[in-house]
Amino acid sequence: MFALNRKTNKRYYEDPSLWECIGRVVKVDANHVELDSTVAYPEGGGQDADHGTLTLPDGIQIRFNHARKMYGNRARIPDFPDIQVDGIIEHVVHEDDVPQLALLTEGMAVVVCIDRLRRARLSLSHTASHLLYLGVANVRPDAIAATLGCHIRPDAARFDFGIAARFTSEEVLEIERFANAMVQRASPVRVYAHSQIPDARYWECEGNVIPCGGTHICSTEAIGPMQVTRKSLGKGKERLAATFNEAIFDLRSQNSLNR
Ligand SMILES: [Zn+2]
Repeated sequence: MFALNRKTNKRYYEDPSLWECIGRVVKVDANHVELDSTVAYPEGGGQDADHGTLTLPDGIQIRFNHARKMYGNRARIPDFPDIQVDGIIEHVVHEDDVPQLALLTEGMAVVVCIDRLRRARLSLSHTASHLLYLGVANVRPDAIAATLGCHIRPDAARFDFGIAARFTSEEVLEIERFANAMVQRASPVRVYAHSQIPDARYWECEGNVIPCGGTHICSTEAIGPMQVTRKSLGKGKERLAATFNEAIFDLRSQNSLNR
């Protein structure tokens, strides 16, 4: 199997509140850039990628509107059946900025800065998705084993389930009530790494532990009242989505650079 002998330093795990850092150019391709370090969370675990900018030493900015993790290694950790660890992160450049890639040279130091509001929204949405999931586990435990996938977007989070018995409207309400009770308790959220594998991460709230490498907020309170809706995706497939129209986004994140 193809394997790379290099990996990107994932600064977003070191400190999830960092919104910028310096990265050195490792490789430039047709429409993407690899750096030795980044604060940009790549699409993964259902969570959409960060967007942001790379600022060159002369001040020129290159926008990226996608980030992806490539060439990870399968870790085979019991809690994480599908996890790929290490690997590199590619910043996919906005199509209008592709010509600027010619200005990058190997080893050049650039400032990677993420769109902070987008990250705050994704972190809140991801945290809300776990409350939704715990609600499902509480009300319809049969659905959990039949989870097909999830999608965490800045404005909503959803899960798809392969279940024959649809969610009744009473169950949807009960799931919503369960999630909202966790919001009302303003419960702290803790994220931490596996003792041996830094890329394998856990989310914990009210004693519930979920293996998850995404970004999150540190308390359920900011989510505000959640609305849970159900949609049928056809025979034997159900979707539950959570929205949070009164959420409060915390942008008090960290700048790692002394400027
Ligand atoms: Zn998570």
